[in-house]
Amino acid sequence: MSEETTEVNIQEPDRYECRACGYVYEPKKGSSAGKIPPGTAFEDLSPGWRCPVCGASKPQFVNVGPTEGPSGFKENLGYGFGVNTLTPSQKNILIFGALALGFVFFLSLYGLR
Ligand SMILES: [Zn+2]
Repeated sequence: MSEETTEVNIQEPDRYECRACGYVYEPKKGSSAGKIPPGTAFEDLSPGWRCPVCGASKPQFVNVGPTEGPSGFKENLGYGFGVNTLTPSQKNILIFGALALGFVFFLSLYGLR
């Protein structure tokens, strides 16, 4: 596995939330109201930049971290492991059921002779 080398340097930019009104500045989206192009980090905004909603200044913003995890990844973890979601007793039923079937099959073969 050499996956660590490929994406280790790609970091989600931190988002900043306005403590005054709850507006969240998303670096990936920028701010169309403030004429900020997408991909502009909050740190790179001019010191005079203000919240496009309420006009609060930059120090009013608090770092709320990058976007929540890779979208859809957690949901997908639940799928594809159908057998593993069975309880141990359900597995036993499956195993003993298969054994019983095999035994009956063996007996019927034996009985044919
Ligand atoms: Zn605001």
